[in-house]
Amino acid sequence: MLPDLPFDPSCMLIDGSWVPAGGTLPISNPSTGEEIGQIARGSAADIDAAVRAAQSAMDGTWGHSTAAERGRILMRLGQLVLQNVDLLTRLESLDVGKPTSQARADALALARYCEFYGGAADKVHGQTIPYLDGYTVYTLREPHGVTGHIVPWNYPMQIIGRSVGAALAMGNACVLKPAEGACLTALVFAHLAAQAGLPPGALNVVPGLGAEAGAALAAHPGIQHLSFTGSVTTGAAVQIAAGANVVPVTLELGGKSPQIVFEDADLQAALPFLVNAGLQNAGQTCSASSRILVHHSRLDEVSQAMATAYRSKRIGAAIDDPDIGPLINARQKDRVQQFLAQATDLPLIAQAMPPDLPGHFVPASLFGPVPPDHPLAQQEIFGPVQVIIPFADEAEAVQIANGTDYGLVASIWTQNGARQMRMAKKLRAGQVFINNYGAGGGVELPFGGTGKSGHGREKGFEALYGFSTLKTVAALHG
Ligand code: NAD
Repeated sequence: MLPDLPFDPSCMLIDGSWVPAGGTLPISNPSTGEEIGQIARGSAADIDAAVRAAQSAMDGTWGHSTAAERGRILMRLGQLVLQNVDLLTRLESLDVGKPTSQARADALALARYCEFYGGAADKVHGQTIPYLDGYTVYTLREPHGVTGHIVPWNYPMQIIGRSVGAALAMGNACVLKPAEGACLTALVFAHLAAQAGLPPGALNVVPGLGAEAGAALAAHPGIQHLSFTGSVTTGAAVQIAAGANVVPVTLELGGKSPQIVFEDADLQAALPFLVNAGLQNAGQTCSASSRILVHHSRLDEVSQAMATAYRSKRIGAAIDDPDIGPLINARQKDRVQQFLAQATDLPLIAQAMPPDLPGHFVPASLFGPVPPDHPLAQQEIFGPVQVIIPFADEAEAVQIANGTDYGLVASIWTQNGARQMRMAKKLRAGQVFINNYGAGGGVELPFGGTGKSGHGREKGFEALYGFSTLKTVAALHG
């Protein structure tokens, strides 16, 4: 069951008040399938009320806040998140099925986002531009106004931290629509934000279904910027809806990210990254490394080492902090099982078997060698499934690595410095890692994709530009 919370988790936060929606939705524990509570089923009318509340905040004290004041609120919020790490961890494990140490890492990352954007809030400066005689020209960075945030279920805390944190730092007022089935930590975050001094309306949270609350937020004419993370299909629909109001959209849509192991790679260093970057969060990670490209001279060695690592992985209930937890829901389990059913023609290198529990568990599966055009090597599975693809030389490695619709992240394992530089330039990805993968997920590092992985950048200082707009002021004074 849910722990006691200082607010009713079946309510929405609109204009500083916890209010019920017209209906509720059940939520369940992915590790057991048991119902654990109800969340609000926000409607289009609730989204409208939230957007109006956000606009009022922009017209009121929040809209007149100084960057230093906003920074202080975010820093206090970071402290409150740290004080509530245990609660956030427990809720995320119950609600999303995330192993406790991974849920804890997300909570700590949320605190880091608050600290980072709190510290950065008053360090975003405009420019003065040398121009014609008699003019003084300068630029101002201003908030968009009301920003919409549609968040998925796989990393709720991290994605809220990186988008809402940056938006608040720049002085926007936010309407947040968390994913159905992953709302609880969003609600706690909003509660803590109010405690940190965020005024009513500056952050509103409306849980609900994507087709109802989500679609209403994407299409609302009162928002001035939209941040979406999730599937390609939904992202495209959201962009069309926002486009009707000429609202700019940041899309983060996932990937099919490769790690490329060259003949001179340090396999001992690479091995934990090769495996864990594919299995973390049961593979439900937009930047999961689902393709392992291996020079043919190392194919057997890499396959055997990864197989041994797979066999040591423990799958279990999130609360027991296994290596791999359950998938989020029955739909996602069904999706992964459909991919596994398409793999009967592929050599199975190793599997870690799930426990005999009623939750949404699937085996962690490693296939190889897999042809680069196979559906398992092309489509985002969003489960604990990796494929090994052999290559002959650098040119073929680039061709295979860039040969999907996606382009989110990529990594190169080689000791050859010139090759590192060449590959980093040639790979189609928003982030490239050399002899590592993910770089610890640093909040400081700009993140986003190309192709069907989306567009726009979040995280790091770069996000502050995305969540603001530039005004040029030209004064003719003679
Ligand atoms: P989704 O894209 O449908 O949902 C993401 C968010 O969008 C949720 O908050 C949802 O409520 C909202 N949403 C859904 N329909 C909407 C609409 N019409 N208008 C506005 N908002 C809407 O993702 P899903 O159905 O939960 O998962 C399906 C697949 O998406 C997964 O299998 C995976 O491949 C992918 N996915 C990717 C990421 C990522 O980080 N890139 C995250 C989650 C899911």
